[in-house]
Amino acid sequence: MNTNIQNIRNLSLDDLEKFFADQGAERFRARQVYDWIWKKTARSFDQMTNISLKTRDLLKQHFTINAVEINTTQKSEDGTIKMSFRLFDGHIIEGVLIPSGNRMTACISSQVGCNLACKFCATGMIRYIRNLYFDEIFDQVAIIAETARNAYGSPLTHIVYMGMGEPMLNYHNVLKSVEKISSDDGLGMSPQRITVSTVGIASMIRQLGKDKVRFNLALSLHSAVNEKRNQIIPYNLRNTLEDLTEAVKEFHQQTKTRITLEYVMLKGFNDTTSDARALAEFCKNFPVKINLIQYNPVENVPYEDSGEERTEAFKEFLEKKNLVVNIRRSRGKDIDAACGQLANKIINKNL
Ligand code: SAH
Repeated sequence: MNTNIQNIRNLSLDDLEKFFADQGAERFRARQVYDWIWKKTARSFDQMTNISLKTRDLLKQHFTINAVEINTTQKSEDGTIKMSFRLFDGHIIEGVLIPSGNRMTACISSQVGCNLACKFCATGMIRYIRNLYFDEIFDQVAIIAETARNAYGSPLTHIVYMGMGEPMLNYHNVLKSVEKISSDDGLGMSPQRITVSTVGIASMIRQLGKDKVRFNLALSLHSAVNEKRNQIIPYNLRNTLEDLTEAVKEFHQQTKTRITLEYVMLKGFNDTTSDARALAEFCKNFPVKINLIQYNPVENVPYEDSGEERTEAFKEFLEKKNLVVNIRRSRGKDIDAACGQLANKIINKNL
């Protein structure tokens, strides 16, 4: 029994070629296996049907695939499908498929739990356990894409890193997963169809700029007034809106992309005319698109959604300032699949 079993998905193509060469096997096997892993998203060696049983046994002796498995699947009356996934070490995370018009969007997690403790978010109430590895992020996309094909006969069109966790606190794995999802050696999806959402970690936003990333960046702003943002997003105490503004400016200089601002509508808290004015002021710093998000109820949270009328008025105020504004209505609310509702009961039980 080999005790040095490695995760095969940590190997590059070169590493795999070296492995086969060391075993006295044909070199082209490496490319076949690599394609199975990334292009054909195999999550077990037995799926690799054009690889001989002998070679598959050899692989099993040396490697594992720490694949993500489906734990539960729930379908909302609006067609949204929420899945919980079991990781190789038993932890549970969640991902969501959101069909909408011509779009099939996968919403995926980047961490098990979250330590940001945003006051309006269910995930913020459970404890942080660990970062996801890049291959675990990749698996969520692969599985949700399979679900889209099976349930709706359509391919995935968009991916949003808006599930559980803070992607910018798992920078390396998030970027590597995007690379695998967008590479021709992987799923070949355009990075322009991928959006990574962050609470706003100034140093990491600068780093994204330096790395000249090609995916979209969304910033969970929720208030353009420092003192208010502090009340709902404790992380704002670490870097203020001024820090964030400077970081986003740098990001924009480097990437030339327009960022999305997410703004969850909290009745009487951040939806007044003076809040809209502060937001419009903040938007003067760089090109943006604003998504006003309907607030989804979370147990033991004192906030309430602004409702149709106040949200429309807020939108109109911003539009008069020539800003691009969309209202994002909740999806999958009946199965706790909407923004901010991902917090698996199983994890809760283990607290
Ligand atoms: N940590 C990242 C990724 C989470 S994305 C981030 O903060 O951006 C999830 C989005 O849903 C964020 O914009 C988050 O602020 C928002 N959200 C959280 N709780 C919500 C709720 N109860 N209703 C609506 N949106 C919520």
